[in-house]
Amino acid sequence: MADGIAELRALLAESQRVVFFTGAGISTESGIPDFRSPGGLWSQYRPIEFGEFMASAEARKEYWRRKIETDKVLLTAKPNRGHRAIAALIASGKASSVITQNIDGLHQTSGVPVAKIVELHGNTTYATCLDCGERYELEPIKQVFVADGTLPECTACMGIIKPATIAFGQSMPQAEMHRAQIETVACDLFISVGSSLVVYPAAGFPALAHEKGASLVIVNREPTPLDNMARLVIRGEIGPVLGQAVGIE
Ligand code: NAD
Ligand code: ZN
Repeated sequence: MADGIAELRALLAESQRVVFFTGAGISTESGIPDFRSPGGLWSQYRPIEFGEFMASAEARKEYWRRKIETDKVLLTAKPNRGHRAIAALIASGKASSVITQNIDGLHQTSGVPVAKIVELHGNTTYATCLDCGERYELEPIKQVFVADGTLPECTACMGIIKPATIAFGQSMPQAEMHRAQIETVACDLFISVGSSLVVYPAAGFPALAHEKGASLVIVNREPTPLDNMARLVIRGEIGPVLGQAVGIE
């Protein structure tokens, strides 16, 4: 067992209410590269910011072209042992929720009820109208776009349709930020998994948990700027670490 797993088991046993906070690192074992990996999905292009998306049809076309490429990896990925370990602790009632920066929907696929997932950066597995919020599935949009380059438009209000993620420059979802705050303040054990903890405001939640008296655990391959606040830092691979700590395959 990697260093710290016995201590994590003990912390889990003595805690009443656990919150998980996940970043891109929990999904790398599912084949989705994280933000930093060289040559990864995200490092090839400068991201299209929200303002550009709104202002220019050409930027929207480029956005959809890239999405169709990255979806080949994102939408075929399956949850891994780390996702399953979290799902098991949610199912047993030990953990109250998972606050995630991820957009891949793998916590849902692993069986965590939607009501127990807080998505801070949205979800890339569907789209919404930016004006009225109507939900749209991706496949029909992509088929039309690939056929003749037509951009999707809301059938209800003619608004712009965008994948349901939070782009750079787009404001954070207020309801989710509020729920994340309530969950963070209410927990006694906060476990950050696979996040570099440099993306704000998301990375404010582990710090808030610590400030409010919860024990902070950080599971990450690399050091993070909040390691000095943590009761326990485990530098290992997430699937094996959480799998062993929770006792699932
Ligand atoms: P990040 O890429 O900044 O950090 C990921 C961290 O996980 C790194 O420190 C890395 O060392 C660690 N890591 C990777 N694989 C690991 C493993 N198997 N075991 C242990 N540690 C591992 O990710 P972030 O903090 O989530 O910030 C990136 C932003 O990009 C997020 O806001 C997110 O919205 C977005 N993003 C999402 C996805 C996704 O949905 N899967 C993927 C990439 C980026
Ligand atoms: Zn609309």
